[in-house]
Amino acid sequence: MGLLSEGSPLSWEETKNLADHVRKHGIIQFINLYKRLRDRQGDILKWGDEVEYMLVKFDDEAKTAKLSLRAAEILKTLNEKEYNDPDNIKSLWRPEYGAYMLEGTPGKPYGGLLVHFNVVEANMKYRRQEASKLLEPNEVLMSLTNFPRTGAHDFTDPPTHPTRNSESSKSLFFPDEAIYPGHPRFKTLTRNIRQRRGEKVAINIPIYKDKNVRSPFKEDFGPLIENESSCAAKEDHIYMDAMGFGMGCCCLQLTFQACNIEEARTLYDQLTPLCPIMLALTAASPFYRGYISDVDCRWNVISCSVDCRTQEERGLKPLNENKFRISKSRYDSIDSYLSEQGEKYNDVPLTYDDEVYKQLTDNGIDKLLAQHIAHLFIRDTVSLFSEKVHQNDLEDTDHFENIQSTNWQTMRFKPPPPNSSIGWRVEFRPCEVQITDFENAAIVCFIVLLTRVILSYKLNLLIPISKVDKNMARAQRRNAVIAETFWFRRDITSDVKKQDDGQPECTEFTVNEIINGKDGVFPGLIPLVNSYLASMDVDADTHCTVQAYMKLIQKRASGELLTTAAWLRKEVVSHPEYKNDSVITQRINYDLLKKVQKIVSNEISCPELLGTCISSKTNETIPAAVAKAEKVPM
Ligand code: ADP
Ligand code: MG
Ligand code: MG
Ligand code: MG
Ligand code: MG
Repeated sequence: MGLLSEGSPLSWEETKNLADHVRKHGIIQFINLYKRLRDRQGDILKWGDEVEYMLVKFDDEAKTAKLSLRAAEILKTLNEKEYNDPDNIKSLWRPEYGAYMLEGTPGKPYGGLLVHFNVVEANMKYRRQEASKLLEPNEVLMSLTNFPRTGAHDFTDPPTHPTRNSESSKSLFFPDEAIYPGHPRFKTLTRNIRQRRGEKVAINIPIYKDKNVRSPFKEDFGPLIENESSCAAKEDHIYMDAMGFGMGCCCLQLTFQACNIEEARTLYDQLTPLCPIMLALTAASPFYRGYISDVDCRWNVISCSVDCRTQEERGLKPLNENKFRISKSRYDSIDSYLSEQGEKYNDVPLTYDDEVYKQLTDNGIDKLLAQHIAHLFIRDTVSLFSEKVHQNDLEDTDHFENIQSTNWQTMRFKPPPPNSSIGWRVEFRPCEVQITDFENAAIVCFIVLLTRVILSYKLNLLIPISKVDKNMARAQRRNAVIAETFWFRRDITSDVKKQDDGQPECTEFTVNEIINGKDGVFPGLIPLVNSYLASMDVDADTHCTVQAYMKLIQKRASGELLTTAAWLRKEVVSHPEYKNDSVITQRINYDLLKKVQKIVSNEISCPELLGTCISSKTNETIPAAVAKAEKVPM
C-alpha cells in the first residue's frame, strides 16, 4: 500500500486542518522532482511483481477455515533477513491492510532478459515456501483474492467480535482486530476515511439470486442504536460497511521501469485499455460476507470501501463546505491519458483546481501531466504523521507521495524516488490474484511481454477513456469473459494517419477475440506476442515456460478453461451442503479452501481451471551461459 513511513498519526481534526498544507507542499515537491528528473534517460527495463496473500487457519475437527490474524508476527521474522542482509535476499515482505495479510515481492526487480521469464514462478514458489515455514500446523498461506466469509459470523482466528462503537470502522461485521496492528497507517486510514465521508462507507453488491434466495433479499441487522446501516443497505444486495471488505482483498500488481519519462507515459496510456480486459480475465472474487454475489471481481467493492467523498462531493447535497463535485472514489480507474497520442481520447471532464494546474504549467509542466497531477490533488490527505508535517521540499517527496499513494487507480505513474538509481515507472494494478504461482506467473509474463510488443511494434491500443470506464463496469459482471463484449481498438497495428477506411476506430470484441484474434478483423494479442518471440533468440527452457503461460491465457480467454471466479462458483453450488440459497456455510468454505490448498500443493489436479500442461521449466537461477548467450536486450 505504498508509503509506509513510521511515526505517530495525527487525529482526524489535525489531519483535516493540514490538508491544504500537504497539498501545497506536495505540489511544490512534485515540481522540484520533475525539474530534477524530467531529462533522466537511459534507464533499462526492470520490472517486478507484487503478490498479496492471506493466512488461513483450518480446523479439521470442527471443519472450519478462518482468517488467521498472525501476519504481524510472521512479518517480523520475514523482515529479519532483509534487515541483516538487504542486498542478498530473494524476497521482500511488506504489511498489508488485513491482520491476516502479507505482501511479497522478489528481492530485486527482474531485468530485461527473456530468461527472466523463467525465474518468476520459481521466485513466487520460494516466497510461498519461505512464509509457509513460519506457520503453525494447519495454518496455510493462500493467494486468494477474497476470503469467502470475511465479515460473516466467526471468521477470524482467534475469534473476534465486531462492535459498532469501534475506533476505526464502527462496522457491524469487520472487527478492528482484523486490521493490521503492526503499523498505525491502516487503522488511521480507516478512521479518517470514515470521518471525512461523514458516515460509514457503504458497499452494496448484488446478491446471486439462486432459487432459494428470498425475494426481495433483505437482512435483519438486529436492534440498531442508530439506523445508518439499515438505511445504507439496499435490497437484493450484500451490504458491507468497512474498509476491510475491500482493502482486505488481495491482488496481483506489476511495476515496469521505462527508459525515460516519455516511454513511461506511453506505457501508462497503452496499458490502460487492457485494465478491464485483464480484470475480466483474472476474475477471482465472487463471494462476499458468506454469500455468493452476482459479480466476479473485487473492484467495485474496494472502490466503495475507501470512498471518502462527502455527500456534497457525491452530488447528494449542494456544494457548501467542499470545493468540487467528484465523480469517482479515490480507488478507481484512471481519468486521463498522459501521452500526446492519448490526448484526443481524454473525453471525460477532469476535475481539478485551476490554481494548482496553473502553478504546474507555470513551472514548465505540460498540459497533460499538469492535469493528471492536479486531478490527483483534488483529494485531501487521509493519513498524516506528526514527524512528517514539516519537510524540505527540495529533497523530500512525502507530501507528494501522501496524495499519490492514496489515489488507488488501475494504473499508477511513478516518478523516480529521491536519491535513487530507480527511473520513471508505471504500475499495472487491476489484476485479481490467482490461487497458484503458475497462473500468477503466467499473467505477469504476459503483461510484461505485451509491453515489449507494444513498444517494438509501436502498437496503438487507445480508445476513449469513457469507453474504458464502460469496460470496467462490464468486466466485473458474472462470467464477463464469456458473456460480455468490450470496446477495443479495431486496428492496433497501423498508424492513425493511414487508417482511413471509414470504419469506426473502436468496436466491441469478446475477450477471446482480443486475446486470440478474429479472422481477418483483429490479430489478437497472443499471436502478436508469439510473433515477437519468434523474432527473438529464446533459450529452450524459457520458450517452453512462456508457451505454457500463453496457453493458459488463451484457454481462459476462449472459455476452454474456467476463470477462478467461475470455478469457485461451480465448487460452491455443487457442494452437498449447498441449499441454493447463495449462502457459503463454514463447512462449504472449509471444503472449498481445502480443495484449493490441495490444488496449490499438487495433491490433486484441476484441469478445468489449469489445463493439463501446467509444468513450466521455471528455475530460481539463470544459467550463466544462457544469460550470456542472450545478446538482444528486450
Ligand atoms: P508499491 O507497493 O508502491 O507498488 P512495492 O515496493 O511494493 O511498491 O513494489 C514495487 C515493485 O516494483 C516490486 O515488484 C519491485 O520488484 C519492483 N521494482 C523495484 N525496483 C524497480 C525498478 N527500478 N523498476 C521497476 N520495478 C521495480
Ligand atoms: Mg499491496
Ligand atoms: Mg507494494
Ligand atoms: Mg502497494
Ligand atoms: Mg503496488
